[in-house]
Amino acid sequence: MPATVILRSRRAKPFFSRHPWIYAGAIAQVQGQPTDGDEVEVFSHGGHFIARGLYNSRSRVRVRLYCWEMNQPLDMAFWRHRLQQAIQLRREVLHLLGPGKACRLVFSEGDGLSGLTVDWYDGWVVMQFTGLGLALRREIFTTLLVELLQPRGILLRTEKSIAPLEGLELTEGVLWGDTPKEPVAIEEDGVVFLVDLLGGQKTGFYLDQRDNRRAVRRYAKGRRVLDAFCYTGGFALHAAHAGAIEVIGVDSSSSAIQLAQCNAQRNHLVQVRFVEAEVFRFLEEQARNRQRYDLIILDPPKFAHRQSAVENALKGYRRLLALSLLLLEPGGILVTCCCSGLITMDMLEELSNQAATKARRQVQILERHYQPPDHPIAVACRESSYLKCLIKRLCC
Ligand code: SAH
Repeated sequence: MPATVILRSRRAKPFFSRHPWIYAGAIAQVQGQPTDGDEVEVFSHGGHFIARGLYNSRSRVRVRLYCWEMNQPLDMAFWRHRLQQAIQLRREVLHLLGPGKACRLVFSEGDGLSGLTVDWYDGWVVMQFTGLGLALRREIFTTLLVELLQPRGILLRTEKSIAPLEGLELTEGVLWGDTPKEPVAIEEDGVVFLVDLLGGQKTGFYLDQRDNRRAVRRYAKGRRVLDAFCYTGGFALHAAHAGAIEVIGVDSSSSAIQLAQCNAQRNHLVQVRFVEAEVFRFLEEQARNRQRYDLIILDPPKFAHRQSAVENALKGYRRLLALSLLLLEPGGILVTCCCSGLITMDMLEELSNQAATKARRQVQILERHYQPPDHPIAVACRESSYLKCLIKRLCC
């Protein structure tokens, strides 16, 4: 019999609505002695069954919930079904699994698998765990992914900042099959990217910006482009491929810049140049030198990891926007992205308004975008919505 977790009175509503995170503060009592990673049954204070989940005394998220059926254990068949549903979305609905393609196969809460991310890169699978319960079941997931996908190899990556919060002790590397000998080539809307699955950031590539890169392509023709925070050249190479006359990509990571340069060569895009630099300083210098661009993309890393960091994050955005408005020609396009869930689209738009007012410029919003459908948002867990992208035009 699994241990039982009883919630405090009046704390059960979000969990009946299928929110998957139970924080310690919502728990009245634990009956039995679950060890970390064990399956538990969760009941309301009034004794009604709510859901089954996995327990972790080391995390603020004391229980992650996976199943709301009374008699369904969290066994191999259950996990297989969840994975099958996730794979079916990408394969049959979104058609993202063809040769040379890359996509997110499992998006944690968005796919009912809180704590697990799985990415697909042309036959290679990269897993990342952000919860202990599923991390302890990594052999089950490896077996199931081999069965369902017949990959070339399955690799494990761990996000350093999350591991201590969950008590994760995982070694990165190959879990099953072959080791990629060199960066893996994937294709996105006609542009080939080399992806370093074991050494790159996250799982190697920012798959979540695929649709936003496609949206930006439409504005690139004939323009001078600046891609700030370019990583391996995502927006920059798409802009060049779509007809930009000159493109500069800037990033502080030397390995990312090296791969960006290889990517430019591989695609024969000679009008692109990559610079290793700190973006704030680079923009300041460009402003001093009176450089001008017709299209600027700002895709910074997550500035706000927790509520207390939001104010500083907003300051960073204000500075980036102010500098960009100095560098942009009238009629120019400004693309601002934000991957901090704590900063909403409304906040991003208000920042644009403040920056335009301060610079005495007129700015229009042309397009609002979010994350692509292989990063689905669970309606019960709005925290799974995190990416925003605004395409704006500087009128004068
Ligand atoms: N636009 C990219 C993804 C950007 S991710 C794409 O489409 O693939 C954010 C990038 O910002 C990372 O590559 C990171 O190395 C870089 N970065 C973080 N802080 C930086 C800074 N202060 N200056 C320059 N680059 C920075």
